[in-house]
Amino acid sequence: MKLGKFSLGIGDRFSHQGVAQLRAIVKANQTGLDISPVWNKSNREHIYVHSHPADVRKEADAAVATLGFSGKYFVDADHINMGTVAPFVETADFFTLDVASFIGKESPEAEIDTFVASCSKYVGKLSIPGIDHPIEVTEALLEKIAHKFLAATKQASEIYNFLKEKKGAGNFITEVSMDEVESPQTPVDLFFILKMLADKGVPAQTIAPKFTGRFNKGVDYSGNVDQFAREFEEDVLVIDYAVKEFGLPEELKLSVHSGSDKFTIYPIMAGIIKKYDKGLHVKTAGTTWLEEVIGLALAGGEALEAAKFIYTDALGRKDELCAPYADVIDIDDSKLPSAEEVAGWSSEKFANTLRHIPGQPDYNPNLRQLIHVGYKVASEMGTKYTDLLKKHADVVGACVEENIYDRHLKRLFNL
Ligand SMILES: [Zn+2]
Repeated sequence: MKLGKFSLGIGDRFSHQGVAQLRAIVKANQTGLDISPVWNKSNREHIYVHSHPADVRKEADAAVATLGFSGKYFVDADHINMGTVAPFVETADFFTLDVASFIGKESPEAEIDTFVASCSKYVGKLSIPGIDHPIEVTEALLEKIAHKFLAATKQASEIYNFLKEKKGAGNFITEVSMDEVESPQTPVDLFFILKMLADKGVPAQTIAPKFTGRFNKGVDYSGNVDQFAREFEEDVLVIDYAVKEFGLPEELKLSVHSGSDKFTIYPIMAGIIKKYDKGLHVKTAGTTWLEEVIGLALAGGEALEAAKFIYTDALGRKDELCAPYADVIDIDDSKLPSAEEVAGWSSEKFANTLRHIPGQPDYNPNLRQLIHVGYKVASEMGTKYTDLLKKHADVVGACVEENIYDRHLKRLFNL
């Protein structure tokens, strides 16, 4: 099973927008692209909205059947580990092995020594084609990298081997993710991480490193854009070299867990992958849920009231809702509008404040991030919420499609 050159991870917390999401991809593919949709959902999301991994498979299959989509598509068990993978085994065919928590865990000295010895040919000046400065590799650097990443890659191989036994080799896509950590992995780290994965027989087709800068949920990139561009380009070149050097799958490509809406760096990524004719996987994560709230606000009446309730309730429970996402959100409390203020808003005012249009004067990234983590409120509303989604499917679906096509795909593929 091969992923293909371009793929887009789409999340749908309440499983009502699969068709609208797919419409956006079909629209992009009509320009000659071949982007594969990958419906992803993490264990954490399943717990919050009381859904099951099988629901995502059902939604994906139904969307594909409805639109007669003939391209490849996948269902991603997002950020799973050994403790959470089991319920995903049957219905997912893309597995994001999250080994971030094993970074820095101790490995036996003998394993460290074996790895360092196996890298002796890289000691000295390592030249990676395309990167204009040779990389200085010392034994001390190799030891440091081994201490940091050997246990994490070993964990990846354990999860991979578990899946291989359950599903059979070649019957699923393997992604290795290390993005949910504080400090970024450098291109040199990435090169040796890929060697470790190759040594352990993990046929990763995508790898999700932590890039420099902040990837907050649902808002734009915040960090040094030039540094990101340099790092991203070097990562692309490192992967190209590592594939040839270590015999990894030739379709191996970067996976960017964007946290959505990284509008500033999308065109940079697009330029680099075009320059080297490489593939890319981008997870957009969670903004479909925000489009549901925008769509309900636009629908007016009781739907607008529901959208206001979601914000107001989330505002009162801010600490509880933000806690699990503390590392990936950045909310300035002083810029959150009060419940009283929001109560007086029109449909347009609410939608313009929540919708991410750079330069729109009403846009408020603080309110947007709070609602982003507030999906628990909608989940608690139960059928009251999902009935509104059904009743206003047209307006909500149009928002979902427009968001993925106009704000994401256009920037990512220069459409
Ligand atoms: Zn991630």
